[in-house]
Amino acid sequence: MPVDCLIREARVLDGTGAPWFVSDVLLRDGRIADVGKSLHAEGAPVLEARGLYLAPGFIDAHCHDDLICLREPERVEKIAQGVTTLVVGNCSFSLYPATSRSAMDLRKHFSTLLGEVSSDEVFDGLASYRSAIHARGLALNLVSLVGHAALRIAVVGHEKRVATIAECMDMQALLAKELRTGAAGLSLGLVYPPSAYADRNELLALSRTVQEHGKLLAAHIRGYEGDLLDSMDEFIDLLRDSGAPGLLSHLQSAGRPNWGQMGKALNKLEQARQQGTDISFDMYPYPAGSSYILQLLPTDALEGGFDALVARLSQTDFRERLHLYLEGKDKTTPPSKVSLIGWGNVRISGVSNPGLKALEGLDMVEAAAGLSITPFELLVRLILEDQGQTGIVMFQLDEKDLHAACTHRLHMVGSDGLPRPGTKPHPRAYGTFPRVAGRLRREGWFPLEDAVCRMTSRAAERFGLTDRGLVRPGMVADLVLFDDAIEDHATFDSPTRLPTGIEHVFVAGEIVMEKGIMTGRLPGRVLG
Ligand SMILES: [Zn+2]
Repeated sequence: MPVDCLIREARVLDGTGAPWFVSDVLLRDGRIADVGKSLHAEGAPVLEARGLYLAPGFIDAHCHDDLICLREPERVEKIAQGVTTLVVGNCSFSLYPATSRSAMDLRKHFSTLLGEVSSDEVFDGLASYRSAIHARGLALNLVSLVGHAALRIAVVGHEKRVATIAECMDMQALLAKELRTGAAGLSLGLVYPPSAYADRNELLALSRTVQEHGKLLAAHIRGYEGDLLDSMDEFIDLLRDSGAPGLLSHLQSAGRPNWGQMGKALNKLEQARQQGTDISFDMYPYPAGSSYILQLLPTDALEGGFDALVARLSQTDFRERLHLYLEGKDKTTPPSKVSLIGWGNVRISGVSNPGLKALEGLDMVEAAAGLSITPFELLVRLILEDQGQTGIVMFQLDEKDLHAACTHRLHMVGSDGLPRPGTKPHPRAYGTFPRVAGRLRREGWFPLEDAVCRMTSRAAERFGLTDRGLVRPGMVADLVLFDDAIEDHATFDSPTRLPTGIEHVFVAGEIVMEKGIMTGRLPGRVLG
């Protein structure tokens, strides 16, 4: 049950970006009942908050917590950052919709991103995913996008080919059902097979379905390297031609030869808006990215799915071609990620096979040297011995580009965290929000009010959360109370250290963290 509570004399950051002001805030029945000076408690307990900041609960506009929300309902590292709502289903990866025929394939597909998925962790639709979450309970709220891969695996499978008109219609029907059930939109993952195999006709058909339902099209675009600007054009054209609003996922320019492109990319977004396209973007505040190891391969290597890749790896000529491609010696293909950033900038962050555990935290050069093999041989070994379930961190971004993106007016904060307990993940899953509100604000990236706006109302607007993201009477009482010394402590070498400076976290008026301690309450809901 939500507690009625009077928060006295907090410095209120209302989420709009307006300067903070000292005010009382009265919570009643899970909502903000009043905001003003010298409010009466009306019998409710009083929380003295002088000197502390009170903001709307942070919204993680982009993460991959689909699976862990089923397994760890308290979501400690998210609540500890002041996050009260997560957006899952990103980059084409979602745990639904699965048909009886596609369920096994969807499990395998999702497993490559975050480790083994069991048979009761994929769902025929959002309704049953939501029921499973609600049955277990969850500390915070969840917003879900439909992953394009799930649609394509259900209708087309893993084949690398254009979908027929009938198949497009089947995917549209599946998508429409989930959007009506409450999914916030569709996510594309155009570097990830099988989403990557879609042509413009398929993408436009699905975008139109998104538009017809008043929802959002989110996209991990086709490339963030030398092909960044062209890939942005592809996405912007889809938005223009369908009329759907768009969110470009984790905008970045990866690989040293491509550093310095961010100014052009941001201008392109502004131009698109001038021409009437409603587009914004999310990005995490770190110069490294993270994904699964299969992202290093060309997309056609995964044609037919993971088992087909394994079969191909037993062919000497395939392995030789792959080796040449990866190390930039095949001049007939665009440069590979490995050739752009180097094996030494690819770090192994998580494995499923216990026999490979010692490799976590090492880069591909160090790890290969320790085994007296080459980095390429190690890659093949990881794919085969870890069933492709190896997570990697890639040091590939320029600080200036990162700064330009994360301070731009169209930016919102998304951690892109890939939660995988017991591994050495990217620290963004444990530090993103305090990093923005603390460290980067103190370094002068933005004023605190602007930082909070990027973590609250901007995302609430984009995902249609009309009663969240602002401190205003009538809004749901998702709130975070923190002090000026708020700080992230997760680093690439110690990635799971929790932040400090967050005092209280409320979800729908219930206290889920009190004086920095989790209360164990699970008031969160699947929204939409
Ligand atoms: Zn992505």
